[in-house]
Amino acid sequence: MRDVHHFINGAVAEGKSGRTGDVFNPSTGEVQAKVALANTDEAAAAVAAAEAAFPEWASTSVVKRSRVMFNFVNLLKTHQRELARLLASEHGKVVDDAFGDVQRGLDVIEFACGIPHLMKGEYSDNVAGGIDLYSMRKPLGVVAGITPFNFPAMIPMWMFGVAIACGNTFVLKPSEKDPSVPMRLAELMKEAGAPDGVLNVVNGDKEAVDAILEHPSIKAVSFVGSTAIAKYVYATGTAHGKRVQAMGGAKNHMVILPDADLDLVTDALIGSAYGSAGERCMANPVAVPVGAGLADEIVARLKPRVEELKIGPSLDSGIEMGPLVTAEHRNKVKSYVDMGVEEGAELVLDGRDFSCPVQGYESGFFMGGCLFDKVTPDMQSYQDEIFGPVLQIVRAESFEEAAALPTKHRYGNGTSIFTRDGDAAREYVNNVEVGMVGVNVPIPVPLSFHTFGGWKDSAFGDINQHGEAGVRFFTKTKTVTSRWPKGIREGAEFTIPTLN
Ligand code: NAD
Repeated sequence: MRDVHHFINGAVAEGKSGRTGDVFNPSTGEVQAKVALANTDEAAAAVAAAEAAFPEWASTSVVKRSRVMFNFVNLLKTHQRELARLLASEHGKVVDDAFGDVQRGLDVIEFACGIPHLMKGEYSDNVAGGIDLYSMRKPLGVVAGITPFNFPAMIPMWMFGVAIACGNTFVLKPSEKDPSVPMRLAELMKEAGAPDGVLNVVNGDKEAVDAILEHPSIKAVSFVGSTAIAKYVYATGTAHGKRVQAMGGAKNHMVILPDADLDLVTDALIGSAYGSAGERCMANPVAVPVGAGLADEIVARLKPRVEELKIGPSLDSGIEMGPLVTAEHRNKVKSYVDMGVEEGAELVLDGRDFSCPVQGYESGFFMGGCLFDKVTPDMQSYQDEIFGPVLQIVRAESFEEAAALPTKHRYGNGTSIFTRDGDAAREYVNNVEVGMVGVNVPIPVPLSFHTFGGWKDSAFGDINQHGEAGVRFFTKTKTVTSRWPKGIREGAEFTIPTLN
């Protein structure tokens, strides 16, 4: 049995708490590794290593920090296939999708290579007699990231890529469900030239998270996960004086107008709702066709496509949908399908009893694709995030009725509209109460040089991930007013300085 430990001060540190968690192979259902669950002392050791490394890293020239990021980009490219396979084997998403997970993180590291430009301050010359005014960006110190299971490469890199380039040192607490890729990323960062202690990985659960949230030396915490934990992290972290950004859950709607290209819509719904078995915060698990005729047509087009989904082991080629991450999560998703049936929605396709026909994979955490029609907004199964391969169709009579649904929903992460009508699309984009919007695009995840963040119960704190917002989150501004007097003697001033 493989053991996954911690990575502290540039080396693997054996877990000493005596507590471990199971890391499954979701395709077979077997436990493939044991991950150490850190106690408070182990988390504190990681913070101490980061604290010791901070002064030198913060004063390392920004160009040298950028070069470490360039080296890391090259190493990620060299190891991308290996990382994707490791990721797929613990998460359950298919290898090509896992390759994309690494790629999306790599994009952020490429963005972080531009840190000399991103850290530039502002300068105003001669704002008053002989006085120059300038500002600069400074790193915060030791900062931390707490990440979910569903993007074990991309989301850690959203955080530590930007934070470390800015001159901070970092403690990462990845998901205990798939910890091996984050550990590999830390090794590769060391190989890229990051000094010991600059990136530390502490594996664990609530105990490690609480140790991070309460540690006085940690200046900022970036979190991505479910809404209940995001709220807790935001409240606890800010109560301990930290800057916190906490991204939460989602329930994204795809609004479809009658003039939309239905081939495009069908492909978009299949990929977005069933890709990664629906375990994506930017999936579109709710389709809102406008008009009964359109809804009938979409259900008729989707049904054979969902039935034909190629479901199987995540490492096999030609597979479109792998298993869910754990049996526990699969059972939760199934219970939402039960709930939908009880609430009166029409279950067009039932994937609850699917088991993988490939020999050796019968006990994997698989589910078939589920398709619900005639879901209504009062249903609990509509209001909650399901996070599985379950697509719910909510029928709307008009554009106004459809457009109001995502705005009224408690979550506001992403949404899409499919139409050929520019006026309707523009109105939707401007008015919908959601943070990230796609027009004829199924998964509107912004690229690394823009920023990522939802609204309402999908995000707490007001600074987004990556892009310039990420640089703002991981830095503070210092503003300097400077005068070099040549024999000026004005005497004491008792009023605030003004330019009058
Ligand atoms: P999760 O909330 O269970 O876990 C996230 C992190 O919090 C993990 O590191 C976990 O160890 C830790 N954690 C779990 N329970 C805790 C507790 N009681 N106290 C303290 N820490 C705890 O989320 P998950 O199941 O790993 O990930 C799926 C969720 O993440 C979904 O809700 C999904 O929508 C969300 N997500 C959101 C975004 C976004 O950007 N908005 C992106 C990806 C995933």
